[in-house]
Amino acid sequence: MPKKEQYKVVILGSGPAGLTAALYAARAELSPLVVEGGGGGDSTDVPGGQLMLTTEVENYPGFPEGILGPELMERFRKQTERFGAELEGGAATALNLSERPFGLTLQGGARLRAETLIVATGARAKWLGLPEELEFRSKIGGVSACATCDGFFFKGKEVLVVGGGDTAMEEASFLTKFATKVTIVHRRDALRASKIMQQRARNNPRIHWLLDSVIERILGGPGQGVSGARVRNVKTGAVTEVAAGGIFMAIGHEPNTAIFRGKLETDENGYLLTFAGTTATSVPGVFAAGDVADHRYRQAVTAAGTGCMAAIDAERFLSH
Ligand code: NAP
Repeated sequence: MPKKEQYKVVILGSGPAGLTAALYAARAELSPLVVEGGGGGDSTDVPGGQLMLTTEVENYPGFPEGILGPELMERFRKQTERFGAELEGGAATALNLSERPFGLTLQGGARLRAETLIVATGARAKWLGLPEELEFRSKIGGVSACATCDGFFFKGKEVLVVGGGDTAMEEASFLTKFATKVTIVHRRDALRASKIMQQRARNNPRIHWLLDSVIERILGGPGQGVSGARVRNVKTGAVTEVAAGGIFMAIGHEPNTAIFRGKLETDENGYLLTFAGTTATSVPGVFAAGDVADHRYRQAVTAAGTGCMAAIDAERFLSH
């Protein structure tokens, strides 16, 4: 339960954006509450954001040897707590932005008020939308969107990774620690991934490629889990059945903005809109930071940067 009924600053989300906002707000003596998020059911919905689902982070400045994602988030968390930010588990389930202070209901039923709100709820993995995905979506079933969460369960198996971006390259490389063969299935022949990540994947002898290809159907049975996929070549139309004990989706992300629908302005993909050069949203006193408002950069360091901006914007809003 939160310690107070009303806060000057409530931050939704505990990834790099949320925790950086918390650090700055705490140091400005605004005693922020961080509603950590996560707990939505599957293994990809966790407090701490997407870095909790990754392995080595090599591009966060200040860590020349790299650092594990979960360890980096642990350091963020310790730093915010050192300055007195309050962290509360679970997610916000309802929001009233038409009253002031804003009204919030948290998972478990606690209600509180916020003079300003910083939305840093991030984004989540996308799925192909095949009916079998739901049926098999668990580590035991064999369909996952997080290799670092579930990869271990595919020891000695052959797996497929869907996607052609950095996530797909990273997940495929990681999975070669466990799987005997990893096949990347990508809908075009050109990869979207950065050159360095592509090269690493191409140099890995355990990684194979099925380009210009899409999964039409996931094969398997109840109790037995995934046994493979029916794959169609989009250029030739040829359909083949590929054996696999697991399928990892790495086809991008969508923003966690369901509870803001109709309350805050978004773009056509659901990302929150902010005024250029600030974190201000369409409702004065509500600020947005990190991937929830950013489909372009989506990096931990840019999320942290906008988290800092949001805390400064909130502080200025409160002092006016
Ligand atoms: P992304 O760059 O958007 O790539 C998504 C991939 O999935 C694309 O290749 C796309 O194909 C494919 N795709 C999308 N929808 C599909 C569908 N319905 N069916 C089949 N394929 C589909 O996403 P991401 O790889 O998650 O990367 C997101 C951001 O995070 C990027 O900025 C990336 O650089 C960054 N990132 C960085 C690192 C790192 O540096 N360590 C690691 C992971 C991610 P098309 O190419 O045909 O559109």
